[in-house]
Amino acid sequence: MNVFSQLEQRRNWSEDERILLDQVRRVAEEVIAPNAARYDAEETFPKDSVDAIKALGLNAIFVPEAYGGAPMSYRLYLAVVQAISEACASTGIIYATTFHGMKPLIDFGSEEQKQRLLPRIAQGALASLAITEATAGSDATAMKTRFTPDGDEVVIDGGKLFITSGDVADLLLVFGKWSEIDDARGAITALIVEKNTPGFEITGIEKKLGHRASSTAGLAFSGARVPRANILGKPGEGLALLLASLNKSRPSIAAHALGIATAAFRDMVAYMNTRVQSGRRVIDFQGNQFMLADLVAELAMAENWLDHVAALIEGGGAEFGVEASIAKLRASDLAMRMATEAVQMHGGYGYIRDLRVERLLRDAKITQIWEGTNQVHRQLIGRSFIDR
Ligand SMILES: Cc1cc2nc3c(=O)[nH]c(=O)nc-3n(C[C@H](O)[C@H](O)[C@H](O)COP(=O)(O)OP(=O)(O)OC[C@H]3O[C@@H](n4cnc5c(N)ncnc54)[C@H](O)[C@@H]3O)c2cc1C
Repeated sequence: MNVFSQLEQRRNWSEDERILLDQVRRVAEEVIAPNAARYDAEETFPKDSVDAIKALGLNAIFVPEAYGGAPMSYRLYLAVVQAISEACASTGIIYATTFHGMKPLIDFGSEEQKQRLLPRIAQGALASLAITEATAGSDATAMKTRFTPDGDEVVIDGGKLFITSGDVADLLLVFGKWSEIDDARGAITALIVEKNTPGFEITGIEKKLGHRASSTAGLAFSGARVPRANILGKPGEGLALLLASLNKSRPSIAAHALGIATAAFRDMVAYMNTRVQSGRRVIDFQGNQFMLADLVAELAMAENWLDHVAALIEGGGAEFGVEASIAKLRASDLAMRMATEAVQMHGGYGYIRDLRVERLLRDAKITQIWEGTNQVHRQLIGRSFIDR
C-alpha cells in the first residue's frame, strides 16, 4: 500500500463523513471527471457536474440546519473541494465559490437575511464573491463601487472584474464603498445582490488559460437597487468582514489546488510505471524517483497542514490568518510544480491536449494568483514576524 492510501485510511472520519466522502468520490469518478475535458474544450458551464453536486446536496454541508442545511465539519468540506477539484478544477472552483460567497452571510448575516436567503443555497443555488475591480486587485481597498442609501434601498454604481460564476450565480456578495463615509478603508461595505436585479448586468466573460469551464465575468452596476435589508452587518464593517471571510476561503482555495496536485501526481505515477525507454520504465530511473519523493513529501505535508488549519477553524479560534496563508501559498505552489513535472514526465505526450496533464498545467497557474497572489501571502506571512 502506498503512503497516500495509508494516510487516507488513517484519517479520522466519522461514519457519516466517510459515507459522504465515498459518495463524492464515486460521483467525481463517474460523472465529473469523464466530462471535464469536454467542458474545458467547449469552454461551457459544466452543467452535468454541477447538477451532480446539487443532487448530492453538497451545499447543505456548510449551511446551518436552521436554514435547511445538514452541516458537517469544515475539514470534510475541504476534502470534498479537493475530491471534486481532482476530477475537474472548474467544477471544484464553482462549488467552492458558493461557499466563499455565502460563508460571510452565514457568519455575519442577520437572522432575517439567513432565513430569507440561505435555504436556496442549501438546495443548490450558486453564489459569487465580488471584490476585484479594474484598479483594485491585490489592494482591494482601492475599490470604487459606490453604495448610496436611498430610503429603504441602496443604489449601486460601479463595476467588478474577474468574478467567478458572476453570470450564473443566484446570489452575489458584493463589496463597495458607502457614500456617506469618507474613509478609504472605513467605507467598505458588503451587501447581497440577487441575479436579475435591474441595473445589474454582465459586461463580458473572459477567455482564459485554464479553468475554461468556470466562467469569469465582468459586472456592471448602474443605479442597481437592492433592499437596505441586504447589507451584511453595518455600513463600514465590510473590511473586517472581508478579512475574516478570506481566512476561511483561503484554506478552501488550498484544498482546490491540492485537488489539481493530486490529479497531476496520479497521472504522472501511472505513466511513469508504464512508459519504457532504454529498456527501463521511466519510474526506474533514480533521478525521477528523487523528484517523486520530493513532491510526495510536499503533498503529504500540505494535506496535513490543511487538516491542522481546519482544526484551528473548527476550534473557534480567531487568529489563523497566517496559517491560512501558509496553506494557500504551499498548496498552490505545489499544484504548479506538480503539474509542470507531470507534463515533463509524459515527455512530448504531456504537451498534447489529449492527455489530462495538459489541462492540469493550465488549471494550476491561477491558484498562485487568486485569493491573494502568492507574493501577497509571502508578505502576510513574513510581516507577522516584525516586532511591533
Ligand atoms: C480566473 C480568475 C478568477 C477570479 N475570481 C475572482 C472572484 O470570484 N472574485 C474576485 O473578487 N476576484 C476574482 N479574481 C481576481 C483575483 O483575485 C485577482 O486577479 C488577484 O487578487 C490579483 O489582482 P490583480 O489581477 O489586479 O493583480 P495586481 O494586484 O495588479 O498584481 C500584479 C502583480 O503585482 C504583484 N503585487 C501586487 N501587490 C503586491 C505587493 N504588495 N507586494 C508584492 N507584489 C505585489 C502581484 O503579486 C502580481 O504579481 C479572479 C481572477 C481570475 C484571473
